[in-house]
Amino acid sequence: MTTTAEILNGKATSSLILDEIKAEVAVIKQEEEKVPHLAAVLVGDDGASLTYVNAKVKACEQVGFASTLITLPEETTEEELLRAVADLNENEDIDGFIVQVPLPKHIDEQKVVESILPDKDVDGFHPENLGRMLLDLPTLLPATPKGILLLLEKNGINTEGKHCVVIGRSHTVGTPVSVLMSRNKKSANSTVTLCHSRTKDLSQITKLADILIVAIGKPEFVSADMVKSGAIVVDVGIHRVTAPETKRGFRLKGDVKFDEVASKASHITPVPGGVGPMTIASLLSNTLQAAKNRIE
Ligand code: NAP
Repeated sequence: MTTTAEILNGKATSSLILDEIKAEVAVIKQEEEKVPHLAAVLVGDDGASLTYVNAKVKACEQVGFASTLITLPEETTEEELLRAVADLNENEDIDGFIVQVPLPKHIDEQKVVESILPDKDVDGFHPENLGRMLLDLPTLLPATPKGILLLLEKNGINTEGKHCVVIGRSHTVGTPVSVLMSRNKKSANSTVTLCHSRTKDLSQITKLADILIVAIGKPEFVSADMVKSGAIVVDVGIHRVTAPETKRGFRLKGDVKFDEVASKASHITPVPGGVGPMTIASLLSNTLQAAKNRIE
């Protein structure tokens, strides 16, 4: 099937954002003699999580940030992880940090998120930061939703007055992106419908979307018959699907059947190379903001 949709290239867009960050870092280094510093905590040996964390560390090098990767074994107790978080909270040299999810099942993820100092919570998951987002107060926005809005904005997509349908209501992606898309801002101002597993006649709703944001966590769930002709489709999903014929033994797939939806949509994000790199760019943008807040 031939692709007709324009590709929303997250890799290229994130690269522009990283260049902007790099330029700001150079100024901060010269004027404040400070280097923004991001730390990441990885618990266990999940291959996908290690890939994501390594990509974040590599992006830090690209923009001139200092970075610290703390790897802890799978058997790390909740108490030990909370201690590591407390150390990072207290460490004056660290401007922001993330604890890579998912965490091993014996650790309460929400408890860990709530233990992170909101000023250093560059993933934007802390209840205080999400509350401030809801009230449109200055805050560190959740990285993936922020990245999605930046991707649309930087690619000249007009969102004002458009019907945006979001599939998925997670606290990290679906719910915050629905809030941000409905905000009274030029780069938002959409009319938003939020769908989830209890939504009736899902495809009847998705077919009404001018902008369809898919964060359902099910490989290739969205097919062409669920999408309106000319819609803008943002695929947040990322899955390793077994492919013995490949060197790595898997292929990366999104939540959307890319080929058939691309033949119907006006714009579409690829997987990989769409939302993923934008999440990293937003994470670094949040870290720069956190570093600047600490200077002021
Ligand atoms: P999640 O926490 O698993 O949430 C999935 C959501 O989809 C839930 O709200 C669920 O509804 C809804 N859902 C499940 N089945 C459904 C159905 N049949 N019809 C309608 N809605 C349904 O997922 P997430 O953390 O938001 O992540 C979604 C995907 O994005 C995953 O593949 C994840 O790996 C990926 N992701 C990518 C990035 C990136 O940077 N590229 C960042 C974060 C996440 P209920 O609430 O009713 O259960």
